[in-house]
Amino acid sequence: MPESGRIQVTISSTAEKVVYLVVFHLSFVMFVWSYWKTIFTSPASPSKEFCLSKADKEQYEKEERPESQQEILRRAAKDLPIYTTTASRAIRYCDRCQLIKPDRCHHCSACDICVLKMDHHCPWVNNCVGFSNYKFFLLFLMYSLLYCLFVAATVLQYFIKFWTNELPDTHAKFHVLFLFFVAAMFFISILSLFSYHCWLVGKNRSTIETFRAPTFRNGPDKNGFSLGCSKNLREVFGDEKKYWLLPIFTSLGDGCNFPTRLVIMDPEQLTVSSQNEPAKSSVSSQPFPTRPLSESQNRLLSSDCQWVESGSEEENVKSGTKKHIIVSLES
Ligand SMILES: [Zn+2]
Ligand SMILES: [Zn+2]
Repeated sequence: MPESGRIQVTISSTAEKVVYLVVFHLSFVMFVWSYWKTIFTSPASPSKEFCLSKADKEQYEKEERPESQQEILRRAAKDLPIYTTTASRAIRYCDRCQLIKPDRCHHCSACDICVLKMDHHCPWVNNCVGFSNYKFFLLFLMYSLLYCLFVAATVLQYFIKFWTNELPDTHAKFHVLFLFFVAAMFFISILSLFSYHCWLVGKNRSTIETFRAPTFRNGPDKNGFSLGCSKNLREVFGDEKKYWLLPIFTSLGDGCNFPTRLVIMDPEQLTVSSQNEPAKSSVSSQPFPTRPLSESQNRLLSSDCQWVESGSEEENVKSGTKKHIIVSLES
């Protein structure tokens, strides 16, 4: 093809070249860095205090009746900061790891360990996404989106020229096609996943909790850990804005203990409302540790009371349980 054709696929302006190179490498480095951190950050497991003592473990294994086993677990969980149970109001216990599961912790069958605030096991990063690397995972999605968007946007003008036959007839023609299609395809698929996770962060919910709401004293509540959008965001990204865009661990808390919006309610009123519930068997009548709920309150909850977060009223109406909580407070 003539020389003029070659000029069409080469950027002539130096300033444009510099901008392209800087933006490309910046998004590429951030993408690789957050991807690396997502892959190689080991999932966090519960601390030793959640393991049964030797004596309790032996007794638990000897017992055959589930009621007695629950009794042992409830005694062991008495001083632990646990506010959720199984749907049948039993203490959440992992037989495989032999420990009492902290709130939001789940056993991953692929990793074969209990993972704190487990979100999901991701085959794309061959790792569990949970408390220790959720921020990195979100940044990885964001930077890969930026990267794909940059590639697609800069190739677009040549992609259009391909269809109007303005490109020189060389192999570069197919590179242009390939680049645009791959970048656009990844952009669209990651965009939906990223939007979903942004929504989850705003609601302070994990993917697992979206499918199965955690059960609190007053019943299942999918918004039980939600403290309002801004505080939910800070739980994952931390208090210091300068670190938000860097794949450095800044999430709040220890992964075992999470503030719940229920703790702002008066524990006595909670008792009143739970007495109104239908009578349960002796095992399920007091599934929670005796420690007052207000002890789990931390700095996230210190500034203002947001136990009814904005936008959740609609859901309160739908959920009989939550409506019940609110009514008992108002009366
Ligand atoms: Zn486990
Ligand atoms: Zn896993």
